[in-house]
Amino acid sequence: MLEVQNLYKSFGKLEVLKGINFKINKGEVVAILGPSGSGKSTLLRCVNFLEKAERGFLHIDDLKLDIEKITKKQVYKCRQLSTMVFQNYNLFKNKTALENITEALIAVKKLPKEKAMAIGEELLKKVGLLEKRDAYPVQLSGGQQQRIGIARAMALSPKVILFDEPTSALDPELVGEVLSVMGDLAKEGMTMAIVTHEMDFARKVADRVIFMDGGVIIEEGTPQEIFNNPRHPRTRQFLNQII
Ligand code: ADP
Ligand code: MG
Repeated sequence: MLEVQNLYKSFGKLEVLKGINFKINKGEVVAILGPSGSGKSTLLRCVNFLEKAERGFLHIDDLKLDIEKITKKQVYKCRQLSTMVFQNYNLFKNKTALENITEALIAVKKLPKEKAMAIGEELLKKVGLLEKRDAYPVQLSGGQQQRIGIARAMALSPKVILFDEPTSALDPELVGEVLSVMGDLAKEGMTMAIVTHEMDFARKVADRVIFMDGGVIIEEGTPQEIFNNPRHPRTRQFLNQII
C-alpha cells in the first residue's frame, strides 16, 4: 500500500533522513519508534509532501513517484491517498468541528455541501462526537480536538493514515479516548503508520514496529521481536529508557 525507497532529506547541512526504506502492506499498522530528533516527523512529512525530500521513490496505492520529478498534481493526489494526523491537531480555529471535517471534501473533492455534511456527520458519529458538530476547537478538549483531527484525516477516504505522535500533547487522562478511536480504525482494516511513544498501544495494536535513530531505520520486526528481544543495542537502550 505504501512503499518508501531510498528517501533522503537534509535541512541545510544537516542530513536528517539517510536512505529510508520501508513498506506498509494493506491493512497493516506500523508503529515508528525512536528518540527525539531521529527524523520520525520528517519522514512522515516527506511522505505527505509537507517537506520535500531530495530524492527517493514513493509508491502509494497504484501511484509510483520519483520524488525528484514529482509534479504538483501528483502531490495533490498523494495527499488524498495518504492523510496526516498531527501532534497539535492543526484544526482550523475559525471552523466548527463539522466544517473542519468537510473542508477538504468541499475544497478538494468538490462535493456538494449537503453530501459533504452527511459524510462529516457520519465521521463525527464514528469518533463519538456528533453532539459537538457545531463546536469550535477552542470549545473542545485536547482529546476531542484530536478525535476531530482523526475524523478529518478519514474524510477523503485515504488509503493510508499517517499519525505523528497523536497523543503526546494530551493530558494523560485524555490519551485513552484517542487511542481507542485509533484502535477501532485499525480493527476496521485501515492502513496506518503511527509515530508514538505509547508502548502498550504499539505492542497491542501494531503488526510491525520500526525503530529509527539518526535518520536511519535501525531495526524492524513484530512487537514481540522488538519489545521482547531487540537485536540492536540502540533499540535496547531506547526501550530501557522509555519503559
Ligand atoms: P523526530 O520527529 O524524530 O523528533 P524530526 O524529524 O522532527 O525528529 O527532526 C529531525 C532533525 O531534523 C532534528 O535535528 C531537527 O532539529 C531537524 N529539523 C526538523 N525540521 C526542521 C526544519 N524545518 N528546519 C531545520 N531543521 C529541522
Ligand atoms: Mg517528531
